[in-house]
Amino acid sequence: MFLWRACHNLLPTKANLFRRGICDNNLCPICQREEETVGHACWDCPAANDVWGEGSIKLQKCVSGGREFMEIFQMVKNRCEMAEVELFAITARRIWIRRNEYIHEGSFTHPSHIMREANNALAYFQKINDKTVQQGRPAPKPERIKWQPPPQGRVKINWDAAVDGNNKSIGLGIIARNDKGWFLAALYAVTFCREEGYRSTIFEGDALQVVNDVNSTNQCQSMHGHLIEDIKVALQALNQACFTHAKREANAAAHALAVGARNHVIDTMRWSSIPSCIYGIVRREESFPSS
Ligand SMILES: [Zn+2]
Repeated sequence: MFLWRACHNLLPTKANLFRRGICDNNLCPICQREEETVGHACWDCPAANDVWGEGSIKLQKCVSGGREFMEIFQMVKNRCEMAEVELFAITARRIWIRRNEYIHEGSFTHPSHIMREANNALAYFQKINDKTVQQGRPAPKPERIKWQPPPQGRVKINWDAAVDGNNKSIGLGIIARNDKGWFLAALYAVTFCREEGYRSTIFEGDALQVVNDVNSTNQCQSMHGHLIEDIKVALQALNQACFTHAKREANAAAHALAVGARNHVIDTMRWSSIPSCIYGIVRREESFPSS
């Protein structure tokens, strides 16, 4: 999906925002030297160059600078093996995410770390593919119940909690996606919506009792009543938010995140790229529409 948006010049680069009158200049927010097109952000910018410099020489040599992203991708596709093309796509996406992290959070991941992450993601992606091929499985049958995207213009938050009574630990998983199924973030706080300005939001979880309690106009008298009341207050700040129920199968990504968090497999943090523990689920769920 990133690749499609990048090739069709649909990323909110400074050049695109400037053209639409949304910002007052078109300069790259990182190097401040050139117009920030998709090609510049993901390939030509010295900061992007530092990342590609950590990768394969062949990839570096097969592209000349100053081009649109679509042309860059075509050059890579024409001259490189499939694995390198996949690595290119993953790395370009990660460079774009780093650029956003720099703008919104002021953090800037080291080039070698970006390349390592991209290689790990590629290895994971290939492993999943190999497994499917080795097991000789045909394409999996569509599940009866699948995740459904929200209506256009809304954001859907899937949430879940996983509790380990013996070790007294709990994990919360929250994943945000838009009507195209595009992954927006995985996180642990509903306040994310307020921070990001997502006012029109669907919160979907598989805990029916919680959904019913939140939607009830009566004050919740149970042990977790104070939490329910907190959620109701938080929802009022989002003028178009609703709390809905889904089957566990349609909430798989949030469930996997919650289990990962409970088992301390993943850190308590916020991601703008898909965490590996839910990568396969999110990719599979992107293939809607479904029955
Ligand atoms: Zn730049």
